[in-house]
Amino acid sequence: MRIPISLSCADQWCWRGDVRGVYTVKQGYRLQMEGVMNEPFQFTAWRVLWQTKLPPTILNFVWRCGRDVLPTRMALAGRGINVDPLCPLCHSFQETPLHLFKLCSHTCRLWDAISDLPMVCPGDSFAAWLSKVIEGRKEVVVRECLALCWSIWKCRNDLLWSNKTWEPGEVVRRSNALLVEWSMVQTASGITLNDSAVHAVAPTTDNGITIHVDAAVFPNREEGFVSAVVHASDGRFLAARNSPVRSLRDPVLAEAMAIKEALSWAKDCGWQVVAIYSDCQVVCNLLKDTSPSYSYSGCVVSDCIALKRYFVDVSFHFVSRSSNTLAHALARATASRTGSRTWFFAIPDCIQRFLLVN
Ligand SMILES: [Zn+2]
Repeated sequence: MRIPISLSCADQWCWRGDVRGVYTVKQGYRLQMEGVMNEPFQFTAWRVLWQTKLPPTILNFVWRCGRDVLPTRMALAGRGINVDPLCPLCHSFQETPLHLFKLCSHTCRLWDAISDLPMVCPGDSFAAWLSKVIEGRKEVVVRECLALCWSIWKCRNDLLWSNKTWEPGEVVRRSNALLVEWSMVQTASGITLNDSAVHAVAPTTDNGITIHVDAAVFPNREEGFVSAVVHASDGRFLAARNSPVRSLRDPVLAEAMAIKEALSWAKDCGWQVVAIYSDCQVVCNLLKDTSPSYSYSGCVVSDCIALKRYFVDVSFHFVSRSSNTLAHALARATASRTGSRTWFFAIPDCIQRFLLVN
């Protein structure tokens, strides 16, 4: 008997070292090396980090660096997302955090202005190096370092998502502006900026995204097809994805799977504030209903609610079919191919005509 649908409902082998139960070579290697190499890859400066007076957004960013969950291109490619793993600045090396922030020819000189920084030792990850900075340096150096990291990341994102030109001068300007801002807030009020950030959760809503989802089910196939189209809060297209799912020819189940797939993907991408839009009223009602449900669709809805814990905020909204044309077209287009596909920079051909009309 095939029991597809919900991972929470079936017995299976899983990897104990991972929160999702998924084995990766990287985790196996780390486990093997623990104790042998005194954990050289680890970020250990958590206690000092939480005592550093910085805005919650920055602390969250450093937390993601320390946990090695920053969605660099290499990290996304490692999760099977169809994205060019090369550094968007130099196009010569894989974009790991260590490369992007420290080793890239476009960023390495930016560090010259900060004195008393530790060397990057062989075997260091960016998290390990950052840990040395935070644990061993004066607070002013830590702030300079983190302001520069944050500015590099923001300018890198502007290049990727808004096609802005990479300007080293702009990175430095942003970094300096941040330092001035932080010191003014502190001297003006004496308040500690990290009061609300003890648990390192991004509190910002300005980087929220919307995801329109839909599903397509065909009478002769047990497989359904789901889609997700992602926009920034200002309406810019960010990404899209479609994939096949086991739907047992049940349209409601397929619609629930569409939301679950979208949430899983958003989690992997590191999006923290997510609004999901579905044109399936039944599933939207199930998501709001707290009474137990034992249907396949109910199991999937339970999975969706469980996934919410990985986000700062997730909301579910019903939209009319006519407001969901992009996701609808993308789901139906999936049926002609196998496997999932993700677009990060280019709008999928099958939905471009709708954007032109709109
Ligand atoms: Zn580079």
